[in-house]
Amino acid sequence: MANQFDVIILGGGPAGYVAAIRSAQLGLSTAVIEQEKLGGVCVNIGCIPTKALLHSAYIANLLKESKDFGVDAGSVKTDYGVAMKRSRRVSDQNSKGVEFLMKKNKITVVKGTGTLQPGKKVKVGSDVYEATKAVIIATGSRVKGIPQIGLDINKTTVISSDEALFLESTPKSLAIVGAGAVGMEFADIFNAFGAKVTLIEALPRILPLEDADAAAELVKVYKKRGIDVIAGAKVTQAKVGKDKVTLDVEAGGAKQQVEAAVVLMAAGRAVNTENIGLKETGIQLTDRGFIKVDQNLQTTAPGYYAIAADARPQGQPRRRARCGAPGRPEAPRHPLRQRAERHLLPPRSGEHRTHGRPVQGEEARLRRRQVPLLGQRTGAWIGRDGGVRQDPARQEVR
Ligand SMILES: Cc1cc2nc3c(=O)[nH]c(=O)nc-3n(C[C@H](O)[C@H](O)[C@H](O)COP(=O)(O)OP(=O)(O)OC[C@H]3O[C@@H](n4cnc5c(N)ncnc54)[C@H](O)[C@@H]3O)c2cc1C
Repeated sequence: MANQFDVIILGGGPAGYVAAIRSAQLGLSTAVIEQEKLGGVCVNIGCIPTKALLHSAYIANLLKESKDFGVDAGSVKTDYGVAMKRSRRVSDQNSKGVEFLMKKNKITVVKGTGTLQPGKKVKVGSDVYEATKAVIIATGSRVKGIPQIGLDINKTTVISSDEALFLESTPKSLAIVGAGAVGMEFADIFNAFGAKVTLIEALPRILPLEDADAAAELVKVYKKRGIDVIAGAKVTQAKVGKDKVTLDVEAGGAKQQVEAAVVLMAAGRAVNTENIGLKETGIQLTDRGFIKVDQNLQTTAPGYYAIAADARPQGQPRRRARCGAPGRPEAPRHPLRQRAERHLLPPRSGEHRTHGRPVQGEEARLRRRQVPLLGQRTGAWIGRDGGVRQDPARQEVR
């Protein structure tokens, strides 16, 4: 049957397309269903374009400081629109690279929105695709605002990373809500391109999930560059005007207002679990709305699996949360999964690893002089001086 495959994968992001390649390598007939562009968030509106923009920001900062190095580059003019267009080219090239990998591995790509059906089936438009072995759900996540406090993403004055990556010019001033990796990256980028940036983090320090020493270094660097960093600060209410937003912020018992032309929401993402037929197929969610999976990432419906590229092994809450919350492991993890974890997942903060392999000797010494912080899996590193470095070995799509 033309619409029958051993394995069908819903979602062509880094989780889905890598699973598809592995499945095809194991000799299984494989199909990937993708509603937008292959490569998912990471390639199209995530890791790749932000790393391209960070590189532009790095060049801008370097040129601004070049006089100190005995190189007078004259007055430095930046143009976010040009940098943005370059980042789009880099993303598109990478997405085409994923397309090529699909062809090379003889994987069928179905364009459209898929809905799960009982009997290991997925419906796309009027077509139904059937898997004989497994359906893998890899639908990823999307941006979200905080409507409860007036921060709905309106795409003009309140934006997300999705919009920030397509702006033609830098806003005059930008308040970023959330100082995780995404918020930190955009603070660096927009500061380099001339915006007055205020970074607001609810938890006691920026980069709450990363190494504390690294975070402390970055606060110093960011402040030196003129970025206002307010940690331990809760945005309690937002007043969204036509061309400015006023945020009520509470920090350390004191209240203050932050005004900016644009607010960028970088305080978490929502998982894509709605309207994909989970209920109809008997796939249960955890209390927190994530897909429940067992040690082998099988959902509560036999034959349906769920994966996320940024899922963590059990015992590490963030990754577990994104792929489901299976509770304490009762059996050893599946060997294939252990291998995948070693090769695909980023190092834990403070560890010096590359490509999942512990680094020793001279390489470890060199690595220790850099902070493996942002964009770990795609190869962006922040040096002690705050400069972003690319790891060329990690640029290719595997
Ligand atoms: C600004 C930004 C910067 C980032 N930088 C980094 C970084 O430097 N390093 C890093 O490791 N991570 C980074 N990330 C995180 C990274 O993008 C994600 O971890 C990764 O994309 C998750 O991959 P995924 O395949 O699980 O999901 P996604 O990439 O979200 O892919 C899911 C895919 O499924 C498709 N889909 C959803 N529902 C359906 C449906 N019903 N039918 C068909 N298709 C569907 C979507 O269109 C999407 O293409 C960044 C994220 C952002 C937002």
